[in-house]
Amino acid sequence: MQGTMMHMPLRIIEILDYAAQAHPGAEIVSVRTEGDIHRETYAQAYARAAQLAHALAGLGVKQGDRVATLAWNGYRHFELYYAVSGMGAICHTINPRLSAEQMLYIIEHAGDEVLCVDLTFVPIIEALADQLPKGLKLVALTDRAHMPDSALDWLCYEEMLAGQAQTFDWPQVSEDAAAGLCYTSGTTGHPKGALYSHRSTVLHALFLSISVPRSLHEGSHILPVVPMFHVNSWGLPYAAPLAGASLIMPGGKLDGPSIFDLMENEGVTAAWGVPTVWLGLRAEIEARDAMPSALDQLVIGGSAAPRPMIEFFEKRGVDVCHAWGMTEMSPVGTHGQLSKSMLDLPFEERMATKAKQGRRVFGVELKISDDNGRALPQDGKSVGELYVRGNTVISGYFNNEDATQAAFDPDGWFGTGDVASIDPQGFLYIQDRAKDLIKSGGEWISSLDLENIAIAHPKVANCAVIAVPHPKWDERPLLVVVPRDAGDPPTLEEIHAMLLEHMAKWQLPDAMEFVEDLPLTATGKVSKLTLRQWFAGYVLPDAG
Ligand code: ADP
Repeated sequence: MQGTMMHMPLRIIEILDYAAQAHPGAEIVSVRTEGDIHRETYAQAYARAAQLAHALAGLGVKQGDRVATLAWNGYRHFELYYAVSGMGAICHTINPRLSAEQMLYIIEHAGDEVLCVDLTFVPIIEALADQLPKGLKLVALTDRAHMPDSALDWLCYEEMLAGQAQTFDWPQVSEDAAAGLCYTSGTTGHPKGALYSHRSTVLHALFLSISVPRSLHEGSHILPVVPMFHVNSWGLPYAAPLAGASLIMPGGKLDGPSIFDLMENEGVTAAWGVPTVWLGLRAEIEARDAMPSALDQLVIGGSAAPRPMIEFFEKRGVDVCHAWGMTEMSPVGTHGQLSKSMLDLPFEERMATKAKQGRRVFGVELKISDDNGRALPQDGKSVGELYVRGNTVISGYFNNEDATQAAFDPDGWFGTGDVASIDPQGFLYIQDRAKDLIKSGGEWISSLDLENIAIAHPKVANCAVIAVPHPKWDERPLLVVVPRDAGDPPTLEEIHAMLLEHMAKWQLPDAMEFVEDLPLTATGKVSKLTLRQWFAGYVLPDAG
């Protein structure tokens, strides 16, 4: 028997419609590329999204068309998210840190009709001009006074909006219609597209709000350092308005001092981002010997949050919530918000729990499998490849049959490529990406475990571990260190002594090399691929 309830399609635009009415006090505060700070309420953003939808319709954008963005976190990007999906088109966010070749590939593959660009990234497009698809319309995200001096034909965003009606008859698109497109950064092969639907996006926003209420609640001021050009800024542009939280958008200013000042000036209560950006904030906190005064929670994900980083912030009164996810999962899959009973645990135990990647969000199921595809027990000891399924997980890649074929197990679960255990309380612990594990004499060594311990050494500013070939053991770990003081770097013996407190002797790195900085991927994570290239042909001391 069917229930007798109405069925309304879940549509993204309804989030903004709702926020405009229900949360009149919340704002989007943006550091603009023009140099100043801009403020608007959700009601103003909703009206401008309507103007933008009229303008895009005037350019010929129809349902199902792709409108691409190349932009920082800011209010115009936010307006694009809602106007484009609201009118039934698809908002394709492009990561400006991709290589020119990758960018051209995805613009072509996505079939973008319009490309909306922040001033900072105009030179990127000028450099690609000859190779861009014919007919691609370019929009500069600024006003007339700041239009770029460029040989290309740019439309002016503010002029497009000016004079348009502030309401739009948003179409009743199906909740399964595509709304957003984001490509993985494609460390091997071409980038692959995750095509989100209205339904998956709205559900993800709902799941996120109930999972991380300490960030997502009325009156909170959330700073998404995680970019809107990659996996929808972890869903914050949808979850924040839903919850009534204000969004504090940092634009392109992501260094420690700028983030600290923005947090202080805007009373930021919660900030979300990858570990690398918190290294900069941490250095600034140490330099000023002060904390951003309203900061209450940091959500850290995208790569493993090292335990010393978690402890640094926890000791200064900030709740650290470790999260894990992927582009293919909208992206959040687990979060480390502790249950009430765990808050009274002794500090050490609490930190050990927080160093894990947390429990699943509602709507995402996790399983770990052995090499034969058999599900392993969630006992905290069994380690296997992590698979996921749920309403916010892709069912295939956008127009990419080969990648889709390779990504799922016979029961339809998506293979994450991560190797993990899950404990009886449901806490996920990521050991490594399968391709980063170090295979030594038939056993595995987790590069993440080594890094998490070594980074706590007072002479280490940052570090990464990669596998290098070894004639006897197949592979052995090489530790690459950015020393805090190049004049006084740590010795391998000092690092070994520290590692030996937690790891077996055979797991210790065979050698250590120093670099000025670690290479980063387009999503701000340490690029092990580049590190492996830097150290290609490296010969370990006992391997010659
Ligand atoms: P890419 O950076 O290649 O575009 P994603 O942003 O989708 O890809 O990153 C997904 C991957 O990032 C995961 O499969 C996992 O390996 C890693 N990752 C994300 N969050 C965490 C975390 N908290 N701890 C460890 N690894 C993480």
